[in-house]
Formats: sequence, structure tokens, C-alpha cells
Amino acid sequence: MRVPALLITILCACASTAGGLEAGAAARKITPKLDRPVYLAGFGNNRAATGVHDDLWARCLALRTGHEPVVICAVDLIGLFHDDVRMVRAAAPGARVIVTATHVHQGPDTMGQWGPKPAVSGLDETYNAFVVSETAAAAREAVSRLTPVRMFPAAATPPDVAAYYDDTRPPVVHDPEILSLVFRDRRGRAVATLVNWSNHPEALGSRNTLITSDYVHYMREALEAARFGAVVFVNGALGGMQSPLGAKILDPETGQPAPKESFRFAEIVGRYAARHVIESQKKAKSAAVDTVLYRETAARFPVANQGFLMAAKLGLFGGRKAMEGGATTAPVGYLRIARSGTPVVEAALVPGELYPELSVGGAVCDPNADFPSAPVEKPLKKMLSAPFRMLFGLANDEIGYILPKCQWDEQPPFTFGAGKRWYGEVNSTGPEAAPVLAAAFEKLARP
Ligand SMILES: [Zn+2]
Repeated sequence: MRVPALLITILCACASTAGGLEAGAAARKITPKLDRPVYLAGFGNNRAATGVHDDLWARCLALRTGHEPVVICAVDLIGLFHDDVRMVRAAAPGARVIVTATHVHQGPDTMGQWGPKPAVSGLDETYNAFVVSETAAAAREAVSRLTPVRMFPAAATPPDVAAYYDDTRPPVVHDPEILSLVFRDRRGRAVATLVNWSNHPEALGSRNTLITSDYVHYMREALEAARFGAVVFVNGALGGMQSPLGAKILDPETGQPAPKESFRFAEIVGRYAARHVIESQKKAKSAAVDTVLYRETAARFPVANQGFLMAAKLGLFGGRKAMEGGATTAPVGYLRIARSGTPVVEAALVPGELYPELSVGGAVCDPNADFPSAPVEKPLKKMLSAPFRMLFGLANDEIGYILPKCQWDEQPPFTFGAGKRWYGEVNSTGPEAAPVLAAAFEKLARP
């Protein structure tokens, strides 16, 4: 099969190099009002919220080494289409704004796919507009608080981390590293902490109807109590399936299995990630940097998914996510924090849920796949050279799962002896997503 033609436009390549690093952070609540039906996104249709367990947030971290700051925002939502991200950017001029979604499954439907019925959108325009204005406000506030800092990067891959995933689809591959960047001011006080880990925030399961940011809430709470400043959590390579939902996790307090689909279960997952940030940061050394650079390109992803095309036609996305000519355009990004041209931290920004095989490698091309001899895409983190390599999932857009083309499997016989089709393909633009993404990122990440 031929890799489809790739339309790439360099939208921005902004670097700033003028001495020291500055950081600033801000957070705004984006908890919806329950004075009208709020349909929770994820799992299925007609999950109307009945209350609020904990607030949802738009949290932003601004970084600057020169003129134009780069702002990394994370919103506690299932995802946000690029159409909304563009509006955030327009309302926060003078900065390069990145908007990632933490992918919580217990927040409002901002993408329209989880309404009261399958063909009825769950999207509430008033709420999306509120998210846009609050996220832009948090971005502006983060910039207004920029102050000189030192950066402390750390990474941990705990030996028991696999227990926190129930990966239901072979091959079992995780991108399990828990990465953190702590920014400390001149007095040593943490201004902000960026955490990057890959796991679905869906520990509460499909029966919960209380609004919550799931394990992310407990992770941030634990870190903020430990004086890590404002915590901005960015999720990673979530596909394939990276979820704690079916995992057998012991409750450290009782020694018994944690109660499934409970707030306690979410708490254990969140505190686990927080603990490893705290431990790894004890050994962290400050890294002097003089450059924060963000590049972005618009890549054109063919949409083979009839469900996505139909949803767009039915207006489920509220006019967002144009799919003209059987394709959709989505941004691919590259972030580099460097010293004298040498990267210290790099991040690949992916507009969806990446299978970890495409982040760290490990694809297995089963002969029963639909394209078993398709070339294996180069994993994104292997295109990077920094000692600290991040992957931002659901960054600036959400086009669904992105899986290695050679693992694509809609036609029987099914891979790995399965009796029925796998789930990921149902929520993916198509088999060309991975080749398009890998080719776009490789161009973008060149020095
Ligand atoms: Zn997901």
C-alpha cells in the first residue's frame, strides 16, 4: 500500500533564546453548572450527570526564554476539537498556546458523541464557549505570572507500573514512564509542576454519574499538598488499551484488592503516580536551559471511518471537525526545551490517542491483520534525542485512536486468534493515521 500524500504546512516555528527561563501557572475551574442536562462523555450515551464530586480544571503553564512564551494548557475533558483550540489561541494572543485534554470520562461531552441518543449530540455550545474563555483566561494569567525559575526534570518507570494497566489487546505494550518537570523560583519554591503519564482517567467506570477528573484529581491533590505548586497533568499514549479499569490493584491500606470503579480505586491510581513524581524529584538536578521552542504542522488524515463521516454529516460535532474530501486536518506538534542547541526535554504532540507501539515501539504484525506487511512506523520517542522525552496525547485536537498500520484489523480472520473485531478501529480515522502522523512528526522534529 502507498502512504497517502501528506499535506504539511509549517504554521509556526518559534524559538526564543534570551537567557534565563521563566515560568508561570494559572488554573480556572471549568466545572459545568447542572441547571441543564450535562451528558458525561465516554463509555456510552445518555449518562446524565447527577452531581459534582470534584471540580474540573483548565490549567496552564507558561514558559519563556525570550520574547514569545509557550503556554501548555490541560483541560479536564474527554477531548477538545481543534476548532475550539483555535478560539482559545485567538483569545490569548502574544503566546503560543498548546491545549491538551486529560481525557477524563466523567466530564461534559465537548465532542458531541455521547448525547442522550446515538444520533443526538451531547455537546452544549454554551459550555464549550465557557471552556474556551476560561482556558484562554488561564493562559493569559499564566503568562502574567512569569517569574525566573530553574527547571528540575525527573523520570520514573516503577517496576510494578504494569499492574496499573489492563491492556486488553495484544501486544501488551505500555509507555509507562512518569515524567515531571518542576519549576522553582529563586527561593526554591515550586511555581508549577508538569506531569506526563499515559493512562486513561476512567477508573470510576461507566456507572458513575458524578463529575470528577478521576485519578487525575487525586494525583494533583497529593502533589499540591506536597508543595509542588500548580500541577498541570498532560496525558500520553493512551491507546491500545491503556486503562486502569480492569486492573487488579491492591489497596495499600487494607492489602485487599481495591474496590472496582470506586473513588477509592481512582485515588489509589492517582496517589501512585504522585508518589513516583515525589520520589523521582528527590534526585532531580536543575537543568539550565536557554531555549523553549514549539513547532506545529497541519497534517491531513484520511477518514475511512464511516461512523465519523456520518457523525459529522449529522452535525454531532456542532460543525467542528470538517471532513471535506474524505479527510480531516489535525495539528502535529513538537516541543523542545534546550541548552545551547542541545535538547534537555522534548515532547511529541499527537492529536489523538496513540498506541504506545507508536511512542516507544513494540508493534507486532500478525499475519491475520488487514495490512500485515505494511512498513512499521518509526516510534515517535525514537525520533527524539533528549534525556527526557514526553508524549502529549489529545494535543490541540482529538481524532481518536492512532494504531500501527500493520496492526489494523477490521476484516476476519482476526489477529491474535480473536473471535471478533478489536475495539480500537471503531474509534479511529483509519489505517493511514499512523503513517501520516509518523511522517509529519519526523519532518517536524528535525534539528
Ligand atoms: Zn480513550
